[in-house]
Amino acid sequence: MNSPTSPEGQLFDGRSAQGQLVRLSLEGAELCLHRLSDGAEPALKRYPRSAVTWPEKTRHGVRQVLLPDGGVVSLADAAVWDAWSAQQGLEQVLAVRWALSWPTALVSMGVLVVVLLVSGIWGLPWAAEKAAPWVPQSVREQIDSSAMAQLRRQGWLLPSQMPEGTAQQVEAELRRMLSAAYPAGEAPRVTLAVYRMPDWAGPNAFALPGGQVVVSDALLRLLPAEDGRLHPGVLGVLAHEVGHVHRQHGLRNVLASSATGVLLGWWVGDYSSTLAAAPALIIQAGYSRSAEREADDEALRILRAAGVDPRGMVAFFAALKKAYPERDGDSPSFGLATHPPDSERVKLFETGRR
Ligand SMILES: [Zn+2]
Repeated sequence: MNSPTSPEGQLFDGRSAQGQLVRLSLEGAELCLHRLSDGAEPALKRYPRSAVTWPEKTRHGVRQVLLPDGGVVSLADAAVWDAWSAQQGLEQVLAVRWALSWPTALVSMGVLVVVLLVSGIWGLPWAAEKAAPWVPQSVREQIDSSAMAQLRRQGWLLPSQMPEGTAQQVEAELRRMLSAAYPAGEAPRVTLAVYRMPDWAGPNAFALPGGQVVVSDALLRLLPAEDGRLHPGVLGVLAHEVGHVHRQHGLRNVLASSATGVLLGWWVGDYSSTLAAAPALIIQAGYSRSAEREADDEALRILRAAGVDPRGMVAFFAALKKAYPERDGDSPSFGLATHPPDSERVKLFETGRR
């Protein structure tokens, strides 16, 4: 049997710029470096095999063995190294080996697609729900701030034209409502901002996964404050958004939608595209009807606990209908999210039951 030639390369020990020609061999659990001239002499250096970082097999490029003392052996001939390392059974990074063998790569890609389809139908929402509580607040806030930046860039959030102090008033009333509705320290963390939104968005409010709640000028104009207090319909809409934050609907959406991207990112080794896509996912995904019903149920609970008349929401739908007669409240395409039909929601806030 023809045993592959031992590989040779330049040893750079990290102290001298001068490389030294060495030959590599494996003796038991050790990698040995020999001076090239006199292989018969005792090895120049020995390293435990497990402490050595072996080169990854790439199509092109220099193979380098990283030594635990900071030294590097730069191998002269990639083909000689590959043949020798294969014969010695040195571990390859699995993905690299797969990527080099196209039939395997195609089969595993196919398996991945099937897994994604199946988990997309049954598994991802469940997995996202389980994972959401473990996402740290700092990550949620990062998601929010990049989403807000993107919304501003796209011209969906424009400087508010409401009188000065409006945002502070809305935020104060929101906080008062939440401290009445939740035990101390248990209210969802929310931050409020008021923006003017493009006309197509209509009177609107939305919540981001980290608790950023945005109210549009148009909503505050649709339901003006009465006697210096916010209209109960505005509080109702805010309570609904808090419901989304409380149940982590936005975060679950992001996790479920970006899981596909994360798996693909794992495959191609690039996560940056997933992170870049997150804001778009938040904004475009909308919530399921069942998520909307959960948010409404939470809103009803918050309003009652805070002594705010839930029928403010009924006034909201009536005002919406009057201001936008062409809008079909029973079709889910208005605004940023898909909501159950107005008629169902009116009944809930009017009677407290579906
Ligand atoms: Zn909603």
